[in-house]
Order: sequence, then C-alpha cells, then structure tokens
Amino acid sequence: MMNSLSHADLITIAEEYGTPVYVYHAEKIKEQYRKLQDAFSNSNTVFFYACKALTNVNILRYIKNLGANVDCSSINEVRLALHAGFPPSRILYTSNGIDFNEIRDAKELGVYINIDSLSNLEKFGNAFGYSYPVGIRLRPNILAGGNIKISTGHDKSKFGIPVEQIEQILKLVNKYKLRISDLHIHTGSEIKDVDVFLKGIEVLFDIAPHFENLEFIDLGGGFKVASMAGEQETDILLLAEKVSRAFASHPYKKGRNLQVWFEPGKFLVSAAGNFIAKVNVMKETATADFVSVNSGFNHLIRPMFYDAYHHIENISNPDGPLKNYSVVGNICETDTFAWDRPLNQVREGDLLVFRNAGAYGFEMSSNFNSRFKPAEVIVLEGRAHLIRRRDQFDDLLRNQLEVI
Ligand SMILES: *Cc1c(COP(=O)(O)O)cnc(C)c1O
Repeated sequence: MMNSLSHADLITIAEEYGTPVYVYHAEKIKEQYRKLQDAFSNSNTVFFYACKALTNVNILRYIKNLGANVDCSSINEVRLALHAGFPPSRILYTSNGIDFNEIRDAKELGVYINIDSLSNLEKFGNAFGYSYPVGIRLRPNILAGGNIKISTGHDKSKFGIPVEQIEQILKLVNKYKLRISDLHIHTGSEIKDVDVFLKGIEVLFDIAPHFENLEFIDLGGGFKVASMAGEQETDILLLAEKVSRAFASHPYKKGRNLQVWFEPGKFLVSAAGNFIAKVNVMKETATADFVSVNSGFNHLIRPMFYDAYHHIENISNPDGPLKNYSVVGNICETDTFAWDRPLNQVREGDLLVFRNAGAYGFEMSSNFNSRFKPAEVIVLEGRAHLIRRRDQFDDLLRNQLEVI
C-alpha cells in the first residue's frame, strides 16, 4: 500500500475485515501534526491532542510517539492516556461541569488541570490551596465555529467561567493563594478565521496581569479541516505568524516567556479516517433514489447530530455515471448521511467510503438498535492492522444482569 490509501487498498481492507469498518491512515496524522510543528517551530508552542476525537489506544500511542501532548475531557481519558504511555507532565485535563472527585483524582495522577467553574475552583482552593498549580477555563464571549451546535465560547455557552466574573475569580485566587499557571479558552470547532484566536489572545492578555504565576496561555482547539471539494482548512502558517506578532507586540508580554498551548482534535485525525459501509438495498421512489447502507447514526452520527458533511465515494464503481442519491442507514430512526448527493452509479453490494471520518466518528458510535459497533483498522507504513474487533453478540449482554 502506498502513502495515500487507494480505492483498491480500501476494498482489500473491507474484504479482509468486513464492513462497516473505520480505517485510519497513520501517516496522514503525522502529516497534519508536522504542519502544526513546522508553522510554530520558531515559537514556544506545544500541541495537546484533544483525544475525545478518537481514543483508540493505538492512535494515542502513535500521537504520543509523534511528540504531541494530550488534552482530556474526562478522568477516563486521562487514564487511557496514561495507559498509552503519556507521562503525567504531557497530559492536560480540561474539565467541564465535572464532580470534584475527578479533579482530586487528576491531581493525584499529577496531570495539568483546567477548572471551569467558580464552584470547583473554590473546592480546589479548599483542598489544595497553593500546593498544586492549576489552570482556569474561561468563557471569552466570542462567537466562533462552524455552527452554533459546535460553538463553545459565546456569551450563552455553558463552557468556562465568564470573563466578566474576573473579580470573583480573583477573590478565590487571593483567598486560597491559588497558583494559576494557565488561562484557557476554547471557542468552538471548525474555526476557519484565524482572527478568532487573536481575539482570544486579547481577552486573555487583558486579564493575564492579575496572575503572577502564569506560565501558559491555552488557546484551545477547533482548527477547521477541508471536508468538501474547494474548502480550505485553517491557514496554520498565517495563524502562527499572527500569534507570534501578537505575543511580540503586546505590552503585557514584557519579560515573560509564556508558552502557548493549542488543543487540536479534528485537525489531527479527521482526514486520516475513512469509514466504509456496504450498500444493502436500493430503493427508487418518486422523490428520491435511496441507497441504504449497513450502518446508520449508530456508527457515524455527525450528519444527523450537527449537519456535518462527509464526502462519499462509491469505490466499487468509480467510473460509473453520476446520479443523485439519498444515502441513508438501516436503523429505525431517520438516519440520513446525505441528501440528493451525486455519486457514481450505485448498485447493491457496492462499497461506499465516507471521508473525514477520523474525528468524532467511531468515538460517538453506539449500540443503538442492538447493532454492533464497527471494527477499527489502522494502516501504518503500508500495512493494515486490526485495532478493534467488531462487537460480537456477547458484547450486547456483557454488562447486563439477568434478574428476571
Ligand atoms: C473538543 C475540544 C477540543 C478539540 O476541538 P476540535 O474541533 O476537535 O479541534 C479542544 N479543546 C477542548 C477543551 C475541547 O473540548
């Protein structure tokens, strides 16, 4: 297999491991990470992979070996990252409405922590005071991201402590002598406009002088990837240039060497992922030609959940005439992957590949309709390896207790 996966490679994998199947191309992850590293090579910048996008332990290890750090959204992700071999010093737990016990556990595991509420900040102060550095997740009141469902930094968002509550934050910092080592924002996903990050820097620089132990400025993730023909991903070179200019020119900077953190999820793993499903049934109707595949939103929920676009190709008939189809799943709910989409003529038994399926694909899958979660395969240096077997019937009963 070559460095880029061909239709023939994908068909071979589908034949060997069955469908539906997620196929991750490792070198594509490396390519994306290199873009970030190269663009920011002259600056003090560190990337934390936002692993909620895809947590297969092989992916975590691959990304660890590339040199990235990891950002976690739950204590279990922290434990998975440790299991994958990340040392605590390379793990960040950016919390969101969690029970304080998870923060206590994270502290015991020795990882970085971002706290997102006054309530948990106070509990942290009570328990640990100045003995352990901690970050604050702020809500900068910036509207950004591909659509409102994936925007997290605006003024009605649940995420972070609103910046206008700075006085209350400072009261807690003073009361408990908190060592605030980083200020974090994450404004949303699929942010194309790099100026959003610049606005974030302005917000953080405004309040940064209040925190004398500050070492890190964490600008979150949300870099856009190209998912449709003609689309562009976030211009990382431009971002690097603008961020470094903002840091060089701002008066607050004087004498300090703040490290910049980013938390890319989608940017690293989206394009590496291909999801392959097989066509079960063709159904012609007066309003649409339906293609029913052996999958549904139980395996890839992004189109139904937040109107995500996945490019679809018929890899079994790539030269067939183009026709418009509605691609749907086989579960008992409306689970449309694409409406009125031109595809090379589709026949029952054909294999369709859904591109950009690496991020929030398998990770959001479920057993709805008591169907099995798909298998996962990684292609590494030209060789395919199974990294998660497809569910089996026993998996559906595994945690059930039969009392009746
Ligand atoms: C989800 C998330 C990210 C990653 O977002 P992407 O759009 O996948 O880059 C980064 N930081 C935090 C705190 C997140 O919750």
